[in-house]
Amino acid sequence: MKRNEELSKLTTIKEWDFIVIGGGASGLGSALDAVSRGFKTLLLESHDFAKATSSRSTKLVHGGVRYLAQGDIGLVKEALKERGLLAKNAAHVVKNQSFIIPNYTLWDGLFYKIGLSIYDFLAGKLSLGKTKYISKSKTIAKLPTIEQKNLTSGVVYQDGQFDDARLAINLTQTIIEKGGSAINYIKVINLIKNDSNKVIGVIAEDQFTKEQIEIHAKVVINATGVFTNDILNMNNPKHGKFVVPSQGIHLVLDKSFLKSDDAIMIPKTSDGRVLFVVPWHDRALVGTTDTLLESESFEPRALEEEINFVLNTARQYLSKKPTREDVKSVFAGLRPLAAPKDGGKSTKEVSRSHKVITSETGLVSIIGGKWTTFRKMAEDTIDEAMKVHNLGSTTSKTEHLSIHGNVKPETVDRSNHLYVYGSDIPKIKKLQQSNPEYSEKIHPEHPYTIAEAVWAIRNEMAETIEDILARRVRLLFLDARAAIDSAHKVASIIAKEKGYSVEWITQHENEFIELAKGYLLTPYSPKNV
Ligand SMILES: Cc1cc2nc3c(=O)[nH]c(=O)nc-3n(C[C@H](O)[C@H](O)[C@H](O)COP(=O)(O)OP(=O)(O)OC[C@H]3O[C@@H](n4cnc5c(N)ncnc54)[C@H](O)[C@@H]3O)c2cc1C
Repeated sequence: MKRNEELSKLTTIKEWDFIVIGGGASGLGSALDAVSRGFKTLLLESHDFAKATSSRSTKLVHGGVRYLAQGDIGLVKEALKERGLLAKNAAHVVKNQSFIIPNYTLWDGLFYKIGLSIYDFLAGKLSLGKTKYISKSKTIAKLPTIEQKNLTSGVVYQDGQFDDARLAINLTQTIIEKGGSAINYIKVINLIKNDSNKVIGVIAEDQFTKEQIEIHAKVVINATGVFTNDILNMNNPKHGKFVVPSQGIHLVLDKSFLKSDDAIMIPKTSDGRVLFVVPWHDRALVGTTDTLLESESFEPRALEEEINFVLNTARQYLSKKPTREDVKSVFAGLRPLAAPKDGGKSTKEVSRSHKVITSETGLVSIIGGKWTTFRKMAEDTIDEAMKVHNLGSTTSKTEHLSIHGNVKPETVDRSNHLYVYGSDIPKIKKLQQSNPEYSEKIHPEHPYTIAEAVWAIRNEMAETIEDILARRVRLLFLDARAAIDSAHKVASIIAKEKGYSVEWITQHENEFIELAKGYLLTPYSPKNV
């Protein structure tokens, strides 16, 4: 996919059926659902695809054990179905992951074995495997770094794990392959309305050229996550608050803190929430928190109290105790929670299911939900939009729609870091071999090669250093120092591919380094790579 080709469609197509605002899980899902029903569909993203919450999740494709404990059976059942569908439709990027709950009382072992067996049962034929009770010694054998003091047993259950930003790129590719269009760095700055006060399009601004474009459509979908209120404000300045942001942070540690292919699930932390330690791209991902914030931003920062909470909880359950110095990267994301009527004082009482809202102007907004259920959220959104706008009765086609990169699960070799590219792997290997420079690593301590950066620029609409290091490969999230050290090399690759100047390299390198420092917990000192 190429940005210029997508931009040119804006002049050739005079009226779209659907314009979707927002290139996160909700927007990409909605655009894919609409285009696969045969609608002329355009998605506009103000930054990069998955720039906001959709690249900052815990990377779980799950029913939500926590919601089961809260008795929200409907939500869990729906998510378990979607988990099973996604594992089939994007097998390259979604995998089975075993989780172990370490038990520190005899009662806990029994309680979680029964609870997780219900979880399996709710998944029906899409279950990923049976829950097992395991002894203390087996728990230690599987999790060598678990805190052993007072440990009584373990409960093993299966869930799904994925790479969120990679799935977002694959969804974008699928939208375009199905005949739709999706463009990054195009920000919607206003809505166009007709004399009857109905929304009939958007005014959008190219973030590179600052050119403003009027684009018309039968339906406009607002899928902007925590930024939903901004679009609703364009729709009607007197709108209420529909979305509240709740921040969750993750700390990324070296794999020596986990030393296992099994993930750890702590079902009840000191503040009554769930904490995960998950193996992810040869690191251990620890999180998360749930802190209601007053306002949203594109680069949310972890609060000191959140960092201390995650570190302290991890120290309680791991025999190797992590400190701030051990943190390779810290990232924060904002959950777009549907606001409760009272404005919401605590996130626990805010609904985690999604809501589709149609405004009197015909604008359709999708809010809440989670990555796992993006397909179903999208189906509900397009169903509602078709009903309100009298667009016929074609039903959703996405339940069994293969997503770009999908391959047979048994063919995925997860020991090779390229596995997330699925069916694109042969093309990337060919690119690596086409030029001796391309098989060089971007950073000596990480497997990513220059070919992957070149591939991202040529085929995955990567425009900036951040697009490459944060979302096409995940270096910023896995090792922020290594990402900073790689900035110059990546800037030079982009400049060479696109014919940019030395000034461009310097400016973008400095901007990226400033941004990446926000992913570090200790001061950065330069290193020559
Ligand atoms: C800490 C955390 C952990 C999570 N873990 C999981 C998990 O493990 N599993 C799971 O299933 N779910 C998880 N979730 C939930 C899931 O990540 C979110 O529900 C989902 O990513 C939200 O996607 P979205 O598209 O609604 O929002 P976003 O991803 O925020 O997308 C909105 C997009 O709209 C764009 N935008 C905003 N304004 C404009 C404009 N004016 N013009 C054009 N574009 C605009 C933004 O740039 C952004 O890309 C987690 C969430 C958090 C915060």
